[in-house]
Amino acid sequence: MRDSYDYLIVGAGLSGLVLAERLGSIGRSCLVVERRNHIGGNCHDRKDSNGLFFHVYGPHYFRTNSELVRTYLSRFTEWNDAKYRVNVFAGGTYWSFPINLGTFRQFSRNPAATEDDFKAYLARSAVPIASPANSKEAILAVVGVELYEFFYKGYTQKQWGRPAEALDASVTRRLPIHTGLDERYFRDEFQALPKLGYHPMFEAILEASKADLRLETDYREVLPLVRYRHLIYSGPLDEYFDCRYGALPYRTARYALEELSEDKVPQGGFVQPVLQVNYPGPEPFTRTVELKHVTGQVSRCSNLVREFPAEYKPGESDPNYPVPGAESDTLAARYRELAEREPGVTFIGRLAQYRYLNMDQVVGAALHTFDKLRDRQP
Ligand SMILES: Cc1cc2nc3c(=O)[nH]c(=O)nc-3n(C[C@H](O)[C@H](O)[C@H](O)COP(=O)(O)OP(=O)(O)OC[C@H]3O[C@@H](n4cnc5c(N)ncnc54)[C@H](O)[C@@H]3O)c2cc1C
Repeated sequence: MRDSYDYLIVGAGLSGLVLAERLGSIGRSCLVVERRNHIGGNCHDRKDSNGLFFHVYGPHYFRTNSELVRTYLSRFTEWNDAKYRVNVFAGGTYWSFPINLGTFRQFSRNPAATEDDFKAYLARSAVPIASPANSKEAILAVVGVELYEFFYKGYTQKQWGRPAEALDASVTRRLPIHTGLDERYFRDEFQALPKLGYHPMFEAILEASKADLRLETDYREVLPLVRYRHLIYSGPLDEYFDCRYGALPYRTARYALEELSEDKVPQGGFVQPVLQVNYPGPEPFTRTVELKHVTGQVSRCSNLVREFPAEYKPGESDPNYPVPGAESDTLAARYRELAEREPGVTFIGRLAQYRYLNMDQVVGAALHTFDKLRDRQP
């Protein structure tokens, strides 16, 4: 570590690393400080003892419609095409999901049901609510009571630790329902995972950046030790301001890895029918992910990661999902106002903006931020 840099970058996630690489490419010096013991932030992946990939902080399915983002990341990795398929396990059966004509055929016990039958069912069942006031109403307005109770009610309660009626409508506003047989979970043009995993991609970005890196270090520890011209902050927004207005609410989860040796894996090589299975029932977990479905790895072994949602406790767990609602919106707006007035600091990424952002949005935003910083002397 030197004693002075152009930029001090807080966080070695996608936001921090992409900016370090871009700034490094025009000769600016960066120190990246990360309090975890690895780079890659929440997208970090590893291999289990059988050499099979798993995602440490929950599944990360890369997809994008942005040519810019895809071209940029493709400088650091090759890709494996991925078909992200999801089922729901409920009432002792697997159901095609997101809800589509196939699900409706199963649900109505009518294998010959047509798209028109399904549309007519939805038209009959959907509750006429023009402006849903909460998440339950938002779902009822699309699928009606029957499908809501079977597929969504329990899952939402477990995922958020509160009933759907206590959640902002925006949580489920983009409910994907396909009246045809389309089973795709996402519709983005490009859906793929880095061929060798996320970690080597992050290493390649870091190497290209020529930035110095300090792991297992809170940035506040280095403040007395280095001089810098500009701070780029991708940590939690409220923490930067010592939570002076109170803590921003988050939902979190624990991820339990189960390594599965040959004798625990059926002949076909998989323990569940698709990549992800959602559990809306009484199980204490919300989903299980068998990543081997999309990594292209061939093995007689497998692994499952089980997701147990939990209340977020600052300092004890990772902040995962911002909890949308009137109160948190107001609180976040107050912190954003402070951030706008903070001289010499750029706030980037999902935590510093207190917004749920997908990976491609974060990369796009980092490239955009670089365009603004490039023309300014730090
Ligand atoms: C459970 C879950 C599943 C997701 N699944 C998907 C998905 O399938 N597809 C998708 O596109 N996106 C997904 N995302 C979103 C994705 O994780 C984010 O878009 C991405 O991680 C954002 O990168 P970032 O750099 O902004 O934040 P982060 O990855 O969170 O990186 C911020 C880093 O800053 C560090 N830091 C914070 N404070 C300090 C400090 N004081 N000092 C030093 N370091 C600090 C943190 O340790 C962290 O490593 C998911 C997110 C979650 C939570």
